[in-house]
Amino acid sequence: MHQCHVCRSTNSIKNGTNRCGNAQYHCKNCGTYRVLKPRHVYSEAEKQTVLQACQGRSSLRGVERIFGITRQTIARWIKAHVQTLPDVKDTFLAATADDVLELDETWSFVFKKEYKRWLWTAMCRRTRQIVAFVIGDRSKATCLRLWEALPHEYKTCHSFSDFWAAYREAFPVETHRCVGKETGDTAHMERWNNTLRQRVGRYVRQTLSFSKCDAFHHLITQLFIIQYNLSLSLTI
Ligand SMILES: [Zn+2]
Repeated sequence: MHQCHVCRSTNSIKNGTNRCGNAQYHCKNCGTYRVLKPRHVYSEAEKQTVLQACQGRSSLRGVERIFGITRQTIARWIKAHVQTLPDVKDTFLAATADDVLELDETWSFVFKKEYKRWLWTAMCRRTRQIVAFVIGDRSKATCLRLWEALPHEYKTCHSFSDFWAAYREAFPVETHRCVGKETGDTAHMERWNNTLRQRVGRYVRQTLSFSKCDAFHHLITQLFIIQYNLSLSLTI
């Protein structure tokens, strides 16, 4: 008789196999669906290897196939991993009086192509670190959220963006300028978008990998930005 891993009840039934071929049960007492005999408990080193694979543009499905670990488990590890990392606001250097911000918005989608999500970012030109990001639609409201997400000390900095009207409405006229790409004033921010697309599968154009939910999309973006900022902090 099998005992539920969660509530210890024996009132459970077989529930087929998961994607990796492990037999599952459904506990009628607490409602849980789990693997009958977990293969083994993964070591910290094994988890780290899998997490690193996830950060190399691989999709969760790809990592699932290679390591034989379900996407749900990997997603759980990623969530737990992000919680051990510092907040984005603690990953970049303090502003100096003459710092300049470059702003841009880049699209990806969640679940289906029609559901576009724009990633709005603010980069400090001196440190190349991302000092604020938000994900949402392309409206003024989301642009305002970017402004609000800026650390107080960066709000007095001069900033540059493209001609998208929302910037003009959300950022103060005294310090913000809309410029064309040819000026090069948003070049670093645009270059970063390419880096993002290069490293994170869900931002690759024409991609088949995409996030199924907003929360996970935000989490993966946050993870990338934290690691990007921290890697720069070490070199500045
Ligand atoms: Zn149970």
